[in-house]
Amino acid sequence: MKRETRIAIIGAGLGGATAAALLQREGFRARVYEQARSFERIGAGIHVSANVMKVLRHMDADHRLSQIGIHPDVFTSRKWDTGEVLFELPLGNIGEQKYGASYITVHRYDLHAAILEKIQPGTIEFGRRLTNAEFDGTVVHLRFGDGSVVDADVVIGADGVNSKVREAVVGPSASRFTGAVAHRAMYPSTLLGGMKVRNCTKWWGPSSHILIYYIEQSREEIYLVTSAKGDWHSQASWEFCSREELASAFEGFHPEVRKVIETAPEVTKWPILDIEPIDTWSKGRLVLLGDACHAMMPYMASGAAMAIEDAALLARCLLRSDDYTNAFALYQTSRMPRVTKVHRISAENTFLRSPTDPTWVFGYDATSVPLGLQQQ
Ligand SMILES: Cc1cc2nc3c(=O)[nH]c(=O)nc-3n(C[C@H](O)[C@H](O)[C@H](O)COP(=O)(O)OP(=O)(O)OC[C@H]3O[C@@H](n4cnc5c(N)ncnc54)[C@H](O)[C@@H]3O)c2cc1C
Repeated sequence: MKRETRIAIIGAGLGGATAAALLQREGFRARVYEQARSFERIGAGIHVSANVMKVLRHMDADHRLSQIGIHPDVFTSRKWDTGEVLFELPLGNIGEQKYGASYITVHRYDLHAAILEKIQPGTIEFGRRLTNAEFDGTVVHLRFGDGSVVDADVVIGADGVNSKVREAVVGPSASRFTGAVAHRAMYPSTLLGGMKVRNCTKWWGPSSHILIYYIEQSREEIYLVTSAKGDWHSQASWEFCSREELASAFEGFHPEVRKVIETAPEVTKWPILDIEPIDTWSKGRLVLLGDACHAMMPYMASGAAMAIEDAALLARCLLRSDDYTNAFALYQTSRMPRVTKVHRISAENTFLRSPTDPTWVFGYDATSVPLGLQQQ
């Protein structure tokens, strides 16, 4: 596709930022419109698996992140009450050799910052909330909440689970509350009074689970994230939650889990949302990526990974195709089977609970996988 094509990316989250960096690197004119006024360092960790690290390496964004993030030697699955080890997946050097890159856990803000750094200065417009996208037969008119209008030749909807661009592609399609909430807490590990915690553990309960991991090599901060049944009636994307409420959702869990919960100075609570699967990711000059087209349960820790892989594949398809129609078709054909499989297994919440070979997930390289339909 011609480099002078005006590409507008809606949303500078993990997927949109990756798309912008990769397209600009290939010489495309990509601008990004983000509703937030700035990005805050809210307490959230993230797993950056080898498949993501390969995209970051391609963007030259992996080095510093790899120095900050912790490289767990294993991912451990444990039974919620007895602590019995159900499965240990070797990571560290073994994982690096097997999957072609390292696997780290890191502060989500640090991952985001490493990607944002690779975008040309001045090309993200903050405080721009898309309200409508209209095609007049020649260009797409993008209308924003501040009254401004921008014209674009191609629009990438990377605007997350409540995507406005998705509405323009498939019609009204609200996100769904899945009946589960995620609690999050991050705090100095010294508060644990010397208690030793493994680098990265998922504790599997009958109807809830909790992941506990470090997000920096210094192990100065410990992070917990859960999934438990809950209600959600608010319009907010998160709320504060009492430690007692979190503790009662994890009653009967192993003493190590109880201690990590009972020590948390501040806890937040997030609704887990997904969307009804859609079978078309583009319409005319509009195309979707990440949560905008396949928001999923976070139970494989792969939602952001899929958004970042989408961005890499979409950039390759735009680079290789003569026009956007062919590019979007090739992109969807290349991505749909893998994303559908990850979506399904995430919803089952079984990944790595018992002996599993995750090579199909972590071994994938979005920067070099052949384009077109692939066996999953
Ligand atoms: C509890 C929890 C834990 C998770 N842990 C992991 C993990 O360990 N690993 C992993 O890979 N994934 C994880 N995920 C999933 C991951 O966070 C998402 O899948 C990922 O952020 C999706 O990226 P995205 O770029 O598609 O959307 P987002 O990151 O949501 O970005 C969308 C961006 O668009 C902007 N935006 C929205 N609407 C508009 C608009 N109208 N106009 C302009 N801008 C707009 C938003 O402000 C935002 O910046 C987790 C999710 C949850 C809930």
